Amino acid sequence: MIELKNLKKQYGDNVVLKNINLYVDRGEVVSIIGPSGSGKSTILRCIIDLESITLGEVLIEGNNLTNKNVDKKIKKEMLLKTGMVFQTFNLFPHMSVRNNIVKTLKVVKKIDVAEAENIAKNMLDLVGLSDKIDDFPNQLSGGQKQRVAIARALALQPDIMLFDEPTSALDPELVKEVLDIIRKLKEKKITMLIVSHEMNFVREISDRVIVMEKGEILETGTSSQIFENPLSQRVKEFLNTTI
Ligand code: ADP
Ligand code: MG
Repeated sequence: MIELKNLKKQYGDNVVLKNINLYVDRGEVVSIIGPSGSGKSTILRCIIDLESITLGEVLIEGNNLTNKNVDKKIKKEMLLKTGMVFQTFNLFPHMSVRNNIVKTLKVVKKIDVAEAENIAKNMLDLVGLSDKIDDFPNQLSGGQKQRVAIARALALQPDIMLFDEPTSALDPELVKEVLDIIRKLKEKKITMLIVSHEMNFVREISDRVIVMEKGEILETGTSSQIFENPLSQRVKEFLNTTI
């Protein structure tokens, strides 16, 4: 689904991603963990083209999006296949929950209102918020806002969902309701790339885990390899400080 080859990202002289190689296969749940400032968010932002990359390649479904000659239409199509959920929800504050989803669908996919309404209802049902359809974001709790953001991303029918610390802006008692939605997406076999500091959750949900530090991948392995038998001392130390 996604492959990064020798990805390098630099802000001025500051190299924030050194030489990242990673892939996510269809149906896989892959998590990225590591200390703050490792470059985890930058990886996700490079995948969805929110950041330009300095060197290397980003491929979505085999299409090299970093190739200068890439067909604009294919690039747009591929980017539409990646749904992103941010730490800070990024809902449109002046729009109802319904319109956050319906207007997004209209603008991005140009489908008619009746169909968009139908999709919005289905997605809100999936995240357990059908009764909030006419509320505005400021009437919702953080957990509810994040569930709307997930519903809005899913409405575009992405082939892969990217999550950037989806629960780190939430009060502790609201974390579970968001993690439960992500668990449900795993049951539905949705491909996901997740950045999270919720180590127990990462351990439980991930098929593979990537550990980063200072712009580099320290280690990658199955969830049990990383959590039960990490190879490097550095990864052991990191896990000891977070669990
Ligand atoms: P993480 O998500 O792992 O905490 P980030 O990807 O946010 O790390 O950041 C990696 C590094 O890149 C940090 O040192 C950060 O200061 C730097 N960085 C991120 N965004 C920018 C930017 N827009 N301009 C300059 N430096 C940035
Ligand atoms: Mg981050």
